[in-house]
Amino acid sequence: MTETSTRAAGEITGLSAADLGAKIASRELSSVEVTQAHLDRIAEIDDQLGAFLHVGATEALDAARAADEAIAAGQAPSGLTGVPIALKDVFTTTDAPTTCGSKILEGWVSPYDATLTRRLREAGLPILGKTNMDEFAMGSSTENSAYQVTRNPWDVDRIPGGSGGGSAAALASHQAPLAIGTDTGGSIRQPAAVTATVGVKPTYGTVSRYGLVACASSLDQGGPCGRTVLDTALLHEVIAGHDPRDSTSIDAPIPDVVAAAREGANRDLTGVRVGVVKQLQGDGYQAGVLESFQQACATLTSLGATIVEVDCPSFSYALGAYYLILPSEVSSNLARFDAMRYGMRVGDDGTHSADEVMALTRAAGFGPEVKRRIMIGTYALSSGYYDAYYGQAQKVRTLIARDFQKAYQDVDVLISPTTPTTAFKLGEKVDDPLAMYLFDLCTLPVNLAGTAAMSVPSGTASDGGAVLPVGLQIMAPALADDRLYRVGAAYEAARGPVA
Ligand code: GLN
Repeated sequence: MTETSTRAAGEITGLSAADLGAKIASRELSSVEVTQAHLDRIAEIDDQLGAFLHVGATEALDAARAADEAIAAGQAPSGLTGVPIALKDVFTTTDAPTTCGSKILEGWVSPYDATLTRRLREAGLPILGKTNMDEFAMGSSTENSAYQVTRNPWDVDRIPGGSGGGSAAALASHQAPLAIGTDTGGSIRQPAAVTATVGVKPTYGTVSRYGLVACASSLDQGGPCGRTVLDTALLHEVIAGHDPRDSTSIDAPIPDVVAAAREGANRDLTGVRVGVVKQLQGDGYQAGVLESFQQACATLTSLGATIVEVDCPSFSYALGAYYLILPSEVSSNLARFDAMRYGMRVGDDGTHSADEVMALTRAAGFGPEVKRRIMIGTYALSSGYYDAYYGQAQKVRTLIARDFQKAYQDVDVLISPTTPTTAFKLGEKVDDPLAMYLFDLCTLPVNLAGTAAMSVPSGTASDGGAVLPVGLQIMAPALADDRLYRVGAAYEAARGPVA
């Protein structure tokens, strides 16, 4: 197996989602042809990569046929009608299992579609299948999946990032032109960075969490993944919007991200003020990552942007705060897996009490990282420790949000590397949770503040002889997601593709 074969694109699978949408709309290509080409690519390559937990060929082709019919009748519901997509296995689907990468939900089929799933269907996007992920979205490498390892198409001995490594690997290997991820602490941006794809964590509350199986409810946000900024914007437009079924959904207009991406392609950032976050660089960052970041700063300057350094002192405490708040919410959210209502049940043989069945099921059904976080969260929320841990972490969260607010008084967007290093080797950090957590350093503040951010490819850096992708993180205030797309598209156009 060669590196090229895992990233090779076919005639159809090499096209952008925007081009596929246009060609399907003009009936130069049919959705059935396009969907079949991606299903063929999955059959050809996914044994080597493990991006998908479930492939729904029949359902995808049925949806493709319906998309072709809608187009023939002049009733295409969106610009992406007929363009197939890969869905992270944390969004519920009525026609495929939803496992969240956990044994406790093995084979579970939801009685309802997530709002995001419904929006994809209504916009005419055939769903190719469900992608692999760290169990309940906890992890930075997808190695915490109970089912399989996903490999990075750039180097199959390395991680594809996490928790949404399946979606990123599917995109980078041309098994899907678009994908959906969720970002609780970086799980869209970080896999995008290490696979040279684009990923956006939208403003909290702008993409419905209804039917998104909860990890940490105050942090979780679904978002779009693509190979180009414009493709990602087109998908963003389909999935974002108010949902009365999600009590944290914001009832506000979504900025025109597609127009912003198109404007950015003109490569003019005159008047745009960009802040470099002082705390998100320096010690512990790989030299090649910092070099790529410096080059990105130079590129943005050449496009007319002004760059200043910005101080966000509380960002230094983001990791500590996140890894108390997240486990606290996890310990509460995952209480619903009680062997009574969903999925797996162990020990129900008449000799055990309900409490014992619950304990046996949770012991067998959850993996080590999930158990670790349930224990940390339970401890942090217990009386006597609540104020010292959870309460303090919430205060830090407020300070981080204030750092952002202050910074955005002077700049339009903030930038940093997306990850401190390039993709590490499979197995390298899986037994060292703290080392794994450090990989999230740059992405966590945005989730804690509920604001928006993108990772866009910014070239490559070498590590141990391998040439690996690096990501540039662009951050914007809440409900100013369009700025990500304008700056991201301008940068992408100036930089050119990462080969
Ligand atoms: N890597 C982070 C964690 O393990 C973020 C996960 C995510 O965004 N879902 O919690």
